[in-house]
Amino acid sequence: MREGDPSDVARGQGATRTRAGGAAALVTDAVLLGDPHARGKDSGGRMVRRGMNDVAVVVVGAGQAGLSSAYHLRRTGWEPGTDFVVLDHSPAPGGAWQFRWPTLTYGRVHGMHALPGMELTGADPGRPSSEVIGEYFAAYERAFALRVRRPVDVREVRDAGWGGRLVVRTAQGDWTARAVINATGTWDRPFWPRVPGQELFRGRQLHTAQYPGPRSDAFKGRRVVVVGGGTSAVQHLLEIAEVARETLWVTRRPPRFRSDSFGEEAGRAAVALVEERVREGLPPRSVVSVTGLPMTEQVRRARESGVLERHPMFARLAEDGVVWADGGRAPADTVLWATGFRPVIDHLAPLRLREPGGGIRLEGTRVSRDPRIHLVGYGPSASTIGANRAGRSAVRDVRALLAEGNREVPAVSPAAV
Ligand SMILES: Cc1cc2nc3c(=O)[nH]c(=O)nc-3n(C[C@H](O)[C@H](O)[C@H](O)COP(=O)(O)OP(=O)(O)OC[C@H]3O[C@@H](n4cnc5c(N)ncnc54)[C@H](O)[C@@H]3O)c2cc1C
Repeated sequence: MREGDPSDVARGQGATRTRAGGAAALVTDAVLLGDPHARGKDSGGRMVRRGMNDVAVVVVGAGQAGLSSAYHLRRTGWEPGTDFVVLDHSPAPGGAWQFRWPTLTYGRVHGMHALPGMELTGADPGRPSSEVIGEYFAAYERAFALRVRRPVDVREVRDAGWGGRLVVRTAQGDWTARAVINATGTWDRPFWPRVPGQELFRGRQLHTAQYPGPRSDAFKGRRVVVVGGGTSAVQHLLEIAEVARETLWVTRRPPRFRSDSFGEEAGRAAVALVEERVREGLPPRSVVSVTGLPMTEQVRRARESGVLERHPMFARLAEDGVVWADGGRAPADTVLWATGFRPVIDHLAPLRLREPGGGIRLEGTRVSRDPRIHLVGYGPSASTIGANRAGRSAVRDVRALLAEGNREVPAVSPAAV
């Protein structure tokens, strides 16, 4: 018998043994999913809805933040697959790294921190980071037997309405849990600014999320406009300038290059700025947006050659190029939007976690409006080191919450937005 496999439940077969919150619970799955009245009691006397897989914690996402959380859950004695599950909708291990372009080699990734408990050693810096990190994450999942379930797409998380539980609805069946650690990153939600005339433009428009590398027909011999002031925009420009007919760099604000070495203290200050926004319930900015762009030797040369000469944002797109507010125009065959990503949190919408400022207020990683939910890899923890720390902190908090026993979790307050 497989444990906790939602497909068993969907077929109405078998039984699932769980130890939700530490106490063993047998949840029969004889009752079909979707019947809200089908409830029973677990061996601890708590009400559970039969036909569900009931665990203490569901971790959504198996990138750096989700794996760090799973590691710490396991390290504190919880069994993967029974006490907690990790659900991920990507086809393979690697989180968002598996989708990054082939020229983003491991050697070009900077400040990548290993996952807790296992170093990444001996990787060839010339190999694509998608492969190196994909293999490393796969080895990590095996080493700690984390039993990540994939591809499992989490469609929504809502309050179960009983027993302080949450319902995690997936394409492969539902789970109930007492806490959810959300680690869904940003990659699946590329941000495309709205600019008048976007639909008129006859050339190609791509986002970083679809960047195929510089050798694509979208760039070779073309006039390429790159929009965005972050690290990805700079990396795209350096590569595309080698093959394009011409490139043009456009940013909303003048970019800030950092010539100083970026120490730990500066890093902490940058994270603190993002943290402050999140504490105020505002949408987070990316950590990189406040750290500035690193002035490497390659960047210095590109600035001298004019590749990194920045132009202000255009007002609209025309059929054949971009047009500024003063009437100035530049012809373009391709526009590459390196305009960043937003947190993937739509599946949490039923919980109404947003503040009037449009963001989700956090205390550490815990959502202020619902302490059963933790956001890791979000806002201030959206870096590999931040994700590591957030996983540890979320697990500590979740354990404390669950240790409070059968105390009802306070009702979610109504959304202000
Ligand atoms: C181009 C680029 C380069 C970067 N380089 C660096 C660097 O050099 N150093 C550094 O520290 N940081 C870097 N970062 C940031 C770093 O990648 C991230 O902060 C960190 O790796 C993100 O980890 P994560 O677990 O939060 O998200 P992800 O790696 O995005 O993982 C999220 C996981 O959640 C899954 N998921 C999403 N939605 C659902 C759903 N509804 N149901 C089920 N599963 C879901 C996804 O499949 C994915 O596997 C970079 C980011 C980018 C975009």
